Amino acid sequence: MSGFVHAEKPIRLERGEGVHLYGESGDEYLDCGASYACAPLGHTHSTVTEAIRGQLERLTFVQASYPVAARERANAALEAAAPEGLENVWLCNSGTEANEAALKFARSATGDSKIVATMQGFHGRTMGALATTWKNEYRDPYEPLIGDVEFVPYGDEAALADAVDDETAALILEPVQGEGGINRPPEGYLAAAREQTEQAGAALILDEVQTGMGRTGELWACEHEGVTPDVLTTAKGLANGLPAGAALCADWIAESHGSHNSTFSGGPVVSAAIDATLSTLVEEEMPAHAGNVGNYLETELRAAVGDDVREIRGMGLMVGIEVKCGANRVLRDLALDHSILALPAGRSVVRLLPPLVMDETDADRVVDALASVLGGES
Ligand SMILES: *Cc1c(COP(=O)(O)O)cnc(C)c1O
Repeated sequence: MSGFVHAEKPIRLERGEGVHLYGESGDEYLDCGASYACAPLGHTHSTVTEAIRGQLERLTFVQASYPVAARERANAALEAAAPEGLENVWLCNSGTEANEAALKFARSATGDSKIVATMQGFHGRTMGALATTWKNEYRDPYEPLIGDVEFVPYGDEAALADAVDDETAALILEPVQGEGGINRPPEGYLAAAREQTEQAGAALILDEVQTGMGRTGELWACEHEGVTPDVLTTAKGLANGLPAGAALCADWIAESHGSHNSTFSGGPVVSAAIDATLSTLVEEEMPAHAGNVGNYLETELRAAVGDDVREIRGMGLMVGIEVKCGANRVLRDLALDHSILALPAGRSVVRLLPPLVMDETDADRVVDALASVLGGES
């Protein structure tokens, strides 16, 4: 039974270029999911492809204890891109691993064990990260998970003040919840999270696996509020489609991180892809572009379908449309009638996470399609 953990889609894909995907018979799709935000520069971006090809032909892999130029360049690109004070880089292979590392580092550096996480939050599916993930459906079959995790309502400052205490190793949360429905916290919430953790001597872990790499209009979403965590985790679009994750850590975390590692940490091919992706995103000012196109998309969506849906919310090119009927029906119509591929976030939210290279013409196509699909609904 191959592929038994996921439901297969009725579309066979063969090729990708920029914001477009193509099926085996040449049918074209506008990609508004980027396969979970993993292609910020669009599919088969030439700079990234060349970097991967060049490295693949020289040296595919050596363990991280041998210095190699590709890893040094990836680390340097991440150090340069990191919020000030988070220049200690640990590379890994996925988002869940980045969070797993962050939780371990925080426990080691604080000597405490309690972890505070948020309702509707998503941090991954390995046992540690899963213990901080909210949805019962993901957790229940695997209980008991690691103990000492307390969930608080997302966006509630008073609840944070109650939960984060002297026994707390870490507070982990997303600057904007992705999987949980594209939920933005009230202004000042991240600053309150920063203040509460600092007072309690706990680590603030911001999970930017989905919000990072320019998607929200800044390279990291925490920059909108000028809040710097103790650990920032990123993955998804980090290597424009190759498996990669990173934990960017403050000195006090890096200095007493314990003993953690992974065989494939910072492999040369993935490192070459990280360097090419991040450098291109920064050089081409992709975060600002994503912010502008995202604002345009959101404004046009409000005008076209604002009355047909419950709510439109988002930040940059991370947009959630809470529909009145099920999200899956809308996603199916978008794909089959309009050749637009998007994602759900729970049962009622249609989630758009297109490549950041999307332009206003692409955005218009999405708005027209959604107007057609949703227009008849109310
Ligand atoms: C996808 C996601 C993860 C998990 O990343 P994987 O690479 O699938 O392990 C963690 N946190 C957030 C916010 C995510 O969106």
